[in-house]
Amino acid sequence: MSRDIKTKGIIIKKVNFRETSIILDILTPEYGVISVMAKGIRKQKSKNTGLLEILNELDLILYKNPSSEWYIYRSSQIVNAHLFNIDISTSVLMQAAVEVIRQIIISVEDSQEIYQLLETYFEYIKTVNINGIAIFWRFLLKLFKIIGIELNISNCIECSQRKQFFAYFPQNHGFICENCYHTVNDEQIFKINKNTSDLISKLNNIGNYIDEISIPKTSIKQLNRIFLTHLSEHFHKKIHLKSIELL
Ligand SMILES: [Zn+2]
Repeated sequence: MSRDIKTKGIIIKKVNFRETSIILDILTPEYGVISVMAKGIRKQKSKNTGLLEILNELDLILYKNPSSEWYIYRSSQIVNAHLFNIDISTSVLMQAAVEVIRQIIISVEDSQEIYQLLETYFEYIKTVNINGIAIFWRFLLKLFKIIGIELNISNCIECSQRKQFFAYFPQNHGFICENCYHTVNDEQIFKINKNTSDLISKLNNIGNYIDEISIPKTSIKQLNRIFLTHLSEHFHKKIHLKSIELL
């Protein structure tokens, strides 16, 4: 009886192992993130090596030993080489999304939706010429929603009113207005400027504004910090994005 399984997957991590093998983390729609051992794949005669590159989307045939968490790589066909012919800043934004997925826990129930979100994000970010970082932020907002840690970007987390945001309040996982800012005396609060606040109000429909807005560096810093803090608070660990530092 064959225990081979067929699945689609996106390679989110690749590490060389011993002389000739490769270990991969692959996001799949059905099984969440799985660890795959590709034995002997780096031997010269193997024609499969080029397929196993980071961010490649593949149709995979894998073997699963029921007594182990590991999947063994059998063969694959390329569905989409996402990093092929991509400029540096787009590539960085794609890798940033994958860097986030690598650091959080993805349940099997959410994996189909996250897979689709990532595919859609990859396709969309390739079509964007400027302000791609805002598309990345919207990707994060959608990801937060799927994994159950939605960030409310419409209402003040304290008074629930729809007002201009004045600061981010990490402890309460949300934004606060100016009135509430003065009642909460906490050193941990991140004050945000008007530019950042305006940008947040546009994020849900950012596609409509992407060609006309200009995003100051301070807003990029503030929003990256807020989104990463939101993730870190929920997962109780520091979440970093090395890729974003390259922008
Ligand atoms: Zn308020």
